[in-house]
Amino acid sequence: ERQDVPLRVHGIDRELLDRRALEVVSTLQDNGYEAYIVGGAVRDLLLGLRPKDFDVATNATPEEVKALFRRAFIIGRRFRIVHVVFGRGREHEVIEVTTFRAFLDNTAASKVSGNEKTNRKALEGVQHAVDANGRVLRDNVWGTLPEDAARRDFSINAMYYDPITEVVVDFHHGIADSQKRQIRMIGEPAARYREDPVRILRAIRFVAKLDRLGFALEPRTAQPLKELQGLLADIPPSRMFDEMLKLLQTGHALASIAQLRKLHLEHGIYPLLDLTVEREHQPLIHQALADTDRRVAEGKPVAPSFLLACILWQDVGELWRLHQDEGQPAHPALQQAIDEAFERRVGDVSGRGRLAADMREIWTMQPRFEKRAGRAPHSLVQQPRFRAGLDFLRLRSHAGEVDAALVQWWETFSQADADAQFDLLQQAK
Ligand code: ATP
Ligand code: MG
Repeated sequence: ERQDVPLRVHGIDRELLDRRALEVVSTLQDNGYEAYIVGGAVRDLLLGLRPKDFDVATNATPEEVKALFRRAFIIGRRFRIVHVVFGRGREHEVIEVTTFRAFLDNTAASKVSGNEKTNRKALEGVQHAVDANGRVLRDNVWGTLPEDAARRDFSINAMYYDPITEVVVDFHHGIADSQKRQIRMIGEPAARYREDPVRILRAIRFVAKLDRLGFALEPRTAQPLKELQGLLADIPPSRMFDEMLKLLQTGHALASIAQLRKLHLEHGIYPLLDLTVEREHQPLIHQALADTDRRVAEGKPVAPSFLLACILWQDVGELWRLHQDEGQPAHPALQQAIDEAFERRVGDVSGRGRLAADMREIWTMQPRFEKRAGRAPHSLVQQPRFRAGLDFLRLRSHAGEVDAALVQWWETFSQADADAQFDLLQQAK
């Protein structure tokens, strides 16, 4: 049942609100629509954390939303959402606006086509969305506010905050669970994991994130995880890859790995994730994971290519040696090692071309750091990815692979003027 929770009970600090999110909600409400801040942002606000992004839910359709904002883009084909964009360049901000809907979200819907094991409820949801010929219809999956709440995963992710009246609308005891510090699946946990197995990874992600605030998975929510982890085998690798990056790159990489072990999920989730857990204690990788967590905490950007380059460096090294032992010259041997390591461990994922290119640059720079003579150092520091390459070299030095003095030399060289660079090259001889 619906509960309208007032400020005196939820105590959300409006200072933590983003003014753009407030603007989107006000504009929608001023035009006669219902609109709320929803999902993770409400959860974080309740806990006194500043949300990293804000989602808005409304009863306006995407076209109606788009019409109200100067820069708004409808994205997604079947289940369309609107991106309202503010500002430009690095400062730009996107508020994601979704129309209330029932049952499925886009990810669960796209899964249904290729997966016969998907349960009946999900299929019924899709039948609402197709005509007699099986053609997908649009606009007919919109739902009511309570339906929108019921399709969400955990109770703490299913609250709606009206920043104007400062009321939190709570259908599934999200406030109580938040106070009890529990992450609880809405409905019957096993059924909800079957509906969308990615929720297994989401459970891990949220407990890893909120563990330091005293949160735990509610026992009934935790209980089916191990038994159902096999369902993840049916999820397209691209989506698994994206979810893995969310575990490793949202500031809680080490905590996520600890949770995977605690829940006995350290094997068989996804090959690249298994490998990361296996290699967690290798100095290079441990340092990379810890640095990633620290950078996110400091609000600095993190690149998947860098972390993956660390995780797979051992493979590249082994294959590189192997091909050199087979008689290949160093450079082509490294190129072949990179192709093979990438193919074997990463495979066919979204953004593959760019990812592979960035990882290749980081790796192929490594032997070039050993050559400190002639023009080579000057052209190396000109490389657009020089910083990433040097950061990687620094991690290798922490791991004892190269001398710390070499890292220091490059650090100095890259910042020196022409005369100082000349001297540094003389010293290096
Ligand atoms: P984060 O702070 O990590 O972004 P979040 O809760 O905002 O966490 P999102 O992935 O951004 O998570 O999703 C936004 C909201 O959409 C969630 O809070 C949840 O209500 C709903 N949601 C997202 N994915 C699912 C899913 N697979 N099943 C059910 N609900 C989902
Ligand atoms: Mg979010």
